[in-house]
Amino acid sequence: MLELNMYIDGKWISSTSGEKREVINPANGELIAVAAEGAAEDAKYAISVARKTFDSGIWSTLPFKTRAKYLHKIANLLEENAEEIAMLETLNNGKMLLAAKTDVQNTIDCFRYYASLITQPEGEMFNVGDSVQTIVIREPIGVCSLIVPWNFPLLMAAWQIAPALVAGNTFILKPSEITPVTAVKLFEIFEKAGVPAGVANLVMGPGSIVGSEMVDSNLVDKLAFIGGTETGQNIMRVAAENTKKISLELGGKSPNIVFADNDLEIAVDNALFNIFFNSGQVCTAASRLLIEESIHDQFVERLIERAKKIVIGHGNKSTSEMGPLVSEAHMQKVLRYIEIGKQEGATLASGGNRIIDNGCENGFFVEPTIFTNTRPDMRIVQEEIFGPVLVIQKFKDEEEAITLANDTVFGLAGAVFCKDIEKAMRVVKKIQAGITWVNCYHVATIQAPWGGYKQSGIGRGLGIFGLDEFSEIKQINVSYKAHPVGWFSN
Ligand code: NAD
Repeated sequence: MLELNMYIDGKWISSTSGEKREVINPANGELIAVAAEGAAEDAKYAISVARKTFDSGIWSTLPFKTRAKYLHKIANLLEENAEEIAMLETLNNGKMLLAAKTDVQNTIDCFRYYASLITQPEGEMFNVGDSVQTIVIREPIGVCSLIVPWNFPLLMAAWQIAPALVAGNTFILKPSEITPVTAVKLFEIFEKAGVPAGVANLVMGPGSIVGSEMVDSNLVDKLAFIGGTETGQNIMRVAAENTKKISLELGGKSPNIVFADNDLEIAVDNALFNIFFNSGQVCTAASRLLIEESIHDQFVERLIERAKKIVIGHGNKSTSEMGPLVSEAHMQKVLRYIEIGKQEGATLASGGNRIIDNGCENGFFVEPTIFTNTRPDMRIVQEEIFGPVLVIQKFKDEEEAITLANDTVFGLAGAVFCKDIEKAMRVVKKIQAGITWVNCYHVATIQAPWGGYKQSGIGRGLGIFGLDEFSEIKQINVSYKAHPVGWFSN
């Protein structure tokens, strides 16, 4: 069993309260680790260390290429330990080992990408007159609070850490209390890579206590949050107190629009992957499937037939295709939504139950679930369930598809499956979402901006946009020589 501690000022420490939290494997309910349960004091300490370190300039004044070297070193160490880290992610989160391996690879790529980006030519310069120029430069913001969720524990941390670090900030990371294991591994790597003490700090513990302190503190300049929309809204209110810079990557209820001209088998195959990958615990999951009326019945029949055959099991079993939900509490939430759907009058066309046989007895598994005959005003259509629950909506024509697609408060992602590319492009441009796909899904490019419209967030991660989120942009106006202004006559 693993003993997990926090990492502050280059030292591994337990919580000041001495409290611990049990970390459970969601596939079998077994204890895999005991983690220090941080208190507000620990968060305060980590913030003060990050502040002192930033103000000392030991990180922010390093040449860009030196900071980039650290990131390359981190990527190399991740690569050396990739197998172990992927297995730990599977044991802690429940995800398929193949998916965990992909997360680790994407994490490595993320550190390498930002290491290269920072050494590219940057900035802008404008000639104002013969001897006056305006130069635009990037500077670090300062101390960053990074708060991440449990669905891609390592990758979500890396998406924040890599740009924050390379831009010259110091930071405090708080992983989800449910999935702290790979964050600890990542910080072991920071230590090995020689990242100076106080630059990278790890705290663990409840969002309402440790996270709150990271949001509230006046010593923090930037808050980057990935998590639920409701938490994000609360955080935004508190962060307003000292006008912290904020970026929010929040929830979604993303539409997958399928037109009648599709190859049915391919579109069904995609629709299944788009929602049931990672047991539906993906912010961009296509949890609403919009099907053109003329193919609806045939499509649904085939979808259900295949959904019933999805192999459910432990993530580290090579035959498994879908794993458990991350925790018992989350499973109960998903099951409650399934009850709500039934009460609202939707038809439970497939699944709907917890699985308690075939090796799933002690885990938190829920069947791939499909609701048909839904109405747009139902809670299961409007609210993020964040589990293997698909709601189907029927549409008559292009216009109705677009209206239904945009009829939620969210705007994170969406897709169009259509052979007529002109129509597909017309429709995708009308989807109010930051991440969209045509005839594909879940493709994430590190260079491209990641974030949501409407209540799915503020700001954009990844690419140059991610670096901007962790930078202050400054203009410097330079005159080669001071001249009299001549405004005043005396
Ligand atoms: P959550 O909002 O419950 O928690 C996220 C993080 O915030 C956790 O570390 C938690 O401890 C912390 N937290 C909770 N309350 C807090 C508070 N008051 N102050 C400070 N921190 C607090 O979300 P979750 O259940 O861990 O994750 C699932 C959600 O994350 C889903 O809504 C999903 O869509 C979203 N998500 C979004 C993206 C994206 O890129 N848009 C990516 C992954 C997950």
